[in-house]
Amino acid sequence: MKERDMVHPTDRELSRRSFLKGTVLAGAGVGAMGALAACAPSGAKDDLASTGVAADSVTWDKETDIVVVGFGGAGSAAAIEARKAGAEVVILEASSVGGGSTALNGGLIYLGGTPLQKEHGIEDSAENFLNYMMQMAGPSANVDALKLIAEQSEDIYNWCLEQGIDFSGEVLEAHLPDGEEGICLGYTGNELSREAQKVATPAPRGHVAQPEATGMGFFRPLKAAVEGSGAEVLYEAVATSLITDENGRVIGVCADYDGGSKNVKANKAVILAGGGFTSNEEKVRDHLPYKANPGWPVTNPNEDGSCIQMAQKIGADLKGMSETQIGFSVYTINDRACEGILVDENGLRFTAEDEYGAFIGKRIVQRGEHAYLIVGNNLKSIMDEAEQTPVAEGATIQELAAAISVDADSLAHTVATYNDMAEGGIDFQFGKEPKHVVALNEAPFYAYDASAENTYYMTQGGLRVDLDLHVIDSEGAVIPGLYAAGLCSNLIFGQYFGSGSSMLWCFFSGRAAGTNAAAE
Ligand SMILES: Cc1cc2nc3c(=O)[nH]c(=O)nc-3n(C[C@H](O)[C@H](O)[C@H](O)COP(=O)(O)OP(=O)(O)OC[C@H]3O[C@@H](n4cnc5c(N)ncnc54)[C@H](O)[C@@H]3O)c2cc1C
Repeated sequence: MKERDMVHPTDRELSRRSFLKGTVLAGAGVGAMGALAACAPSGAKDDLASTGVAADSVTWDKETDIVVVGFGGAGSAAAIEARKAGAEVVILEASSVGGGSTALNGGLIYLGGTPLQKEHGIEDSAENFLNYMMQMAGPSANVDALKLIAEQSEDIYNWCLEQGIDFSGEVLEAHLPDGEEGICLGYTGNELSREAQKVATPAPRGHVAQPEATGMGFFRPLKAAVEGSGAEVLYEAVATSLITDENGRVIGVCADYDGGSKNVKANKAVILAGGGFTSNEEKVRDHLPYKANPGWPVTNPNEDGSCIQMAQKIGADLKGMSETQIGFSVYTINDRACEGILVDENGLRFTAEDEYGAFIGKRIVQRGEHAYLIVGNNLKSIMDEAEQTPVAEGATIQELAAAISVDADSLAHTVATYNDMAEGGIDFQFGKEPKHVVALNEAPFYAYDASAENTYYMTQGGLRVDLDLHVIDSEGAVIPGLYAAGLCSNLIFGQYFGSGSSMLWCFFSGRAAGTNAAAE
């Protein structure tokens, strides 16, 4: 991600929306008990929501086949496919422009076995991609879902091209920390790790949306495609609750727009696509099981989990709410920075320094508040160029340890062990790539802050969905008339495969939700 693109929600923005929602939800409760006019404030309990009403007892302000909540990547994909299948679509979008985190992102989508890879002579296939994802996901892998995603990877790539997304450029045969202008493909995950190479031939899979290599490369063409499809988009329209009939079927959405609360009828289905809950800091922290809290949210102000909450109110189940991606990437600083070593507050190494940032970040918060990247003088100029400022310097490792309050014997032992391994060029401890296993023996030595507060995070947990993207209730049954897509839903995330996996999930889930909802 690019620092300039990051948006941190302000208290003002959040409280304004919370206030709006609080009043609107209350009104929905009253409507549920009598004829549901508009979701006007009334002081009734939020959790009654708009459940169990007869469709003909509701005053509908608008009617369509499918209501999509959220106009980001997943919502766009859902709307485009639903329109293609002949359904009428209304999108409710809280902001005045749409795009959500999709428009702000680093422009990466993670795909394997695509024509673009072939064009550039890169050996990859759906099977190789699947093997990699399975290895990364470990024992908790959802095999059926990952298989389907790997099989559809080529389709998703072609679909992106159909929407006008441009992946032209050169291949970077190295770690690609962010989307980069003119680079169409790079390594954005753990493909080069020893663990991954046991099962899959490494291939660059981070496809970069051009021309500016940011999320606008996705959203600009998607927005045009949605508008061209005939879907209606209502901006500054905040969905506040779901309306269900006597049988528990979702029949519409209560939303706040045009200065009031409105009931929008969905004759086929509602698709929730409002993103995760990263900007709801309290909720994120409630779910995290680690010793230390992660640092800063990578999000947009409307990513407050409202879609998740709406569905929860009518009984939806959740999946993997603690599966927040926590990142700290050394190769983002500079590939050669990986020649240093990461140590915790006890002076112990805990990871391969060239590993994917989403794995390193999680290990940092698992181990405690403080961690450091230790480098020798040979890397100082590289760190300077990357505008990194050391927190401490020492003429010896022991002196450096004292400066960062780490046990001197422990750090000296860690460095000595590492230097022994460097002689043979093999990291027996964590499997760092041989080219990065370089002895730390040039004084002075420097410590850079790699503490928990320097990690970033974004949520991955959300509404439990099945392979058809139906939302599932706490009894394991499908909630009729309700689908979810993108980061408010979760079927695969437990482990993260590489930067670009979120957009892969958004397009996979959005397309399927749109097609399936249209077929209702
Ligand atoms: C700075 C940054 C960099 C990133 N880099 C990458 C990357 O390179 N590759 C990658 O795969 N992932 C990346 N991510 C993560 C990825 O962008 C998101 O996970 C993904 O865009 C989520 O898509 P979505 O469609 O689920 O939600 P969004 O794109 O966030 O869209 C949701 C939309 O719903 C709207 N909304 C929310 N609640 C309501 C409501 N109640 N009523 C009406 N509308 C509502 C929001 O305003 C928003 O427009 C990045 C994220 C950020 C913030």
